[in-house]
Amino acid sequence: MGKITGFLDYKRQDFKIQGVTQRISHYHEFAVPIGETDIAIQAARCMDCGIPFCQSTFGCPLWNLIPEWNDLAYRGQWREAYERLEITNNFPEFTGRLCPAPCESACTLSINDAPVTIKQIELAIIEKAFQEGWVVPYPPQKSTGKSVAVIGSGPAGLAAAQQLRRLGHQVTVFEKSPKIGGLLRYGIPDFKLEKRVIDRRLEQLISEGIVFKTEVMIGEDISAHYLKKSFDSILIATGAGHPRDLQIPGRNLKGIYFAQEFLTNSNLFVDGMIDGNQLISCQDKTVLVIGGGDTGSDCVGTANRQGARRVFQFEILPKPEEWKYKWNPYWPNRPDILRTSTSHQEGCEREWSVMTKSFSGRHGKIEKASFSRVRWDRSGKSLQPDMQEIPDSDFELNIDMVLLATGFVHLVHNRLIKDLRLQFDDKKNLRVDEHFMTSVPGVFAAGDAAKGPSLIVKAIYAGREAAKSIHNYLMC
Ligand SMILES: Cc1cc2nc3c(=O)[nH]c(=O)nc-3n(C[C@H](O)[C@H](O)[C@H](O)COP(=O)(O)OP(=O)(O)OC[C@H]3O[C@@H](n4cnc5c(N)ncnc54)[C@H](O)[C@@H]3O)c2cc1C
Repeated sequence: MGKITGFLDYKRQDFKIQGVTQRISHYHEFAVPIGETDIAIQAARCMDCGIPFCQSTFGCPLWNLIPEWNDLAYRGQWREAYERLEITNNFPEFTGRLCPAPCESACTLSINDAPVTIKQIELAIIEKAFQEGWVVPYPPQKSTGKSVAVIGSGPAGLAAAQQLRRLGHQVTVFEKSPKIGGLLRYGIPDFKLEKRVIDRRLEQLISEGIVFKTEVMIGEDISAHYLKKSFDSILIATGAGHPRDLQIPGRNLKGIYFAQEFLTNSNLFVDGMIDGNQLISCQDKTVLVIGGGDTGSDCVGTANRQGARRVFQFEILPKPEEWKYKWNPYWPNRPDILRTSTSHQEGCEREWSVMTKSFSGRHGKIEKASFSRVRWDRSGKSLQPDMQEIPDSDFELNIDMVLLATGFVHLVHNRLIKDLRLQFDDKKNLRVDEHFMTSVPGVFAAGDAAKGPSLIVKAIYAGREAAKSIHNYLMC
């Protein structure tokens, strides 16, 4: 423990960020680093608890050694802090930017005070490591002679590939998109994660000897059977890309897009891979985002950067509890509360308990959306609350564009999955056993493809665990 009285002496200091006008004028990240001395002070707030809930099942899914690296950051031993961090996390630069930080909700300090800024400290350690040149390739010392095909290059596939390669296997990652990264590259906007951050990490993975093949759709360009014959094992890390649709009248009108289609298009534009004519642009439009989650929030931030005239975000579920504490009364659990992202602060009219009933328009193009308000009743016997439409609560809005951010239901059941005759779980994701093996021996699955839509930190964990199981399978 760095400073015994640190948690009494210092207040929590969060990421500093650029003001709204400045940040919506560009697509870059906008957090302003707070400097090593200030980070050390934040790290001094860690109490090095007897039971560090931050790294327990309530906290970090990766079991990051948080109190250890907090202590080292406080002492200015940055290299040692990095060495502890990389033991458990292949990509702290992704989680340090994007994780919702369940570790902070579980931090013991949050019983009666603001938690340690664990995410910010993690990011400071990994950025220092890149700056100092400590992030180096660890190619394997010897080869096992075994080969693994990893399908999908999101965080699950990349973490698994790195772990397997370091164990001496020949690893080839197949990706259907033009560039590596999965949702990190084509879902998450640059203002949350600049793509140079992925490219910087890719240099290490390539130097370690991982082979990447892009624009290859497994199941179509290469058959699943050929892959199975050519590799000793396969890992399916294809994500959960099947979007939830909203089948209401007028759904087929032009101007209604799935959030993922819109975000991918915007990311391609920001990357210079498409031009302005191909952009699904919100400029001067009234945009309705349906769905109150994080994907919806990313749509709001992107729409504002594109110059939307007005942005609405409607959610059918009730408004979550408004947070009035700096501590966590639900400790060590992560509370289900109203979260206002930086994108929401940039301009957005948010409403809850609103059901979108229909779209209408002229010449095949959306012009209006109709809604009614709903009431949620928890008094019934069922665990699920009942939803009732409130009589005479109908209203309409003039809308130029709709973005459906209503979530993902499960992985895409494409030819790869069908040809291998893989079994599904009750949510129609891939059924895996406790070793991440699917119903077909030697074929493993990890990340959203097996667990459904989740988080980057969980995808990295699943990739690492699946790699251990594949190694055991290949070597026994
Ligand atoms: C808009 C958005 C924002 C998000 N923001 C956050 C956030 O801030 N923080 C957070 O923790 N989580 C966030 N998430 C969730 C997070 O991105 C996912 O949980 C995570 O990326 C899942 O990783 P994965 O490796 O399982 O799959 P993915 O990242 O989905 O990668 C799967 C890859 O497989 C490829 N693929 C699919 N089929 C084939 C095939 N047949 N052949 C070859 N390649 C194939 C796909 O092209 C894709 O690149 C967000 C999700 C979305 C949609």
